[in-house]
Amino acid sequence: MIADSMVSLVKGSSVIRAMFEEGNRLAKIYGRENVYDFSLGNPNVPAPKEVNEAIKEIVDNEESTFVHGYMSNAGYEDVREGIASSINKKYDTHFNASNIIMTVGAAGGLNSILKTLLNPGDEVLCFAPFFSEYRNYVSNFGGKLVVVPANTVDFNPNFEEFEKLINAKTKAVIINNPNNPTGVIYSEATIKKLAEILENKQKELATSIYLISDEPYRELAYDGIEVPYLTKYYKNTIVGYSYSKSLSLPGERIGYLVLPDELDDANDIKTAAAVATRILGFVNAPSLLQRVILKTLDVDISENIAVYDKNRKTLYEALTKYGFDCVKPEGAFYLFVKSPTEDEMEFCNAAKKHNILMVPATSFGCKGYVRIAYCVSYETIVNSLSHFEELAKEFNL
Ligand code: PLP
Repeated sequence: MIADSMVSLVKGSSVIRAMFEEGNRLAKIYGRENVYDFSLGNPNVPAPKEVNEAIKEIVDNEESTFVHGYMSNAGYEDVREGIASSINKKYDTHFNASNIIMTVGAAGGLNSILKTLLNPGDEVLCFAPFFSEYRNYVSNFGGKLVVVPANTVDFNPNFEEFEKLINAKTKAVIINNPNNPTGVIYSEATIKKLAEILENKQKELATSIYLISDEPYRELAYDGIEVPYLTKYYKNTIVGYSYSKSLSLPGERIGYLVLPDELDDANDIKTAAAVATRILGFVNAPSLLQRVILKTLDVDISENIAVYDKNRKTLYEALTKYGFDCVKPEGAFYLFVKSPTEDEMEFCNAAKKHNILMVPATSFGCKGYVRIAYCVSYETIVNSLSHFEELAKEFNL
């Protein structure tokens, strides 16, 4: 009796579910420590101690009805003001509380802004490979996700194809920087080029095209690489942020949207996004976590980043040495590897025989590649290497 639309969505979810079950099956046979599960982007480093301290301090000292109560759908005013100031300090921007809406993670923020912007039939562009949930989020509101084919040379945006796909129905473009699944970071030059194309197309089509920058990995950038703050390059930019990865809080569901005053129809968008947050059933972002974020805005997460960086270097160096063709990861915690056979499912199945679990990239809109999430213990990385070496030999690399 489930809705027709859910039948195909349930079917589409089965690849990841099958992987999860496969991990459990292998763990029962070989022991959890002998299964190299690189399938999930679930941070392995603990949340900074300041997060726990803030939770205790808040529940011990603040008034319960305030900490756990309803507030404005957009979130607590002081939390939003604090976030705006923190962004201004870091990126030399000029936001205030009215530009920030607290969200239920990046996913909640994306759904709220897509609910705000999309009419049925509107098109949303994204660059392959992309976080596969974008397709569901866009279709939730009757929109159509249009995928720009991958640039498999360096996995930067394929601008030639992008320009061709923009038309009068294009309402928004989603980019994700640093990128899941490639680990690539778009440089300032790339962002400038993107902004130039969008400006020109807006003029040519006499329309507004919103750039939604999905940034849950903003701080996870290695080797000193800068991640440009997009509102400074294109005025119709909306930023979606989440603390899921930077503070290792994916289950707590806390993030925010930045809605600059420079947006076309900024006031309507701000009001509608708060209403969207309410009527999608979120009502507001988790209240305790909002209070925690205010107390941990400037917490130092360099130690956590160093953990991922060590994993990144060890895995990338080893896999390239064994002959795998890997995209050089600059940010996030993913390694994108070219399958040695055309059908990456065959490669994933062969890897499973070595107790290695990775995600086939067809689900990210990029056939012939796999994604390895290296947000696992260093021990898992080191212990997996001999298995990767065997796998490479099996494919004559
Ligand atoms: N966007 C990207 C690119 C992601 O990788 C993820 C989670 O892995 C999300 C959004 C969703 O993040 P959240 O858990 O904050 O909703």
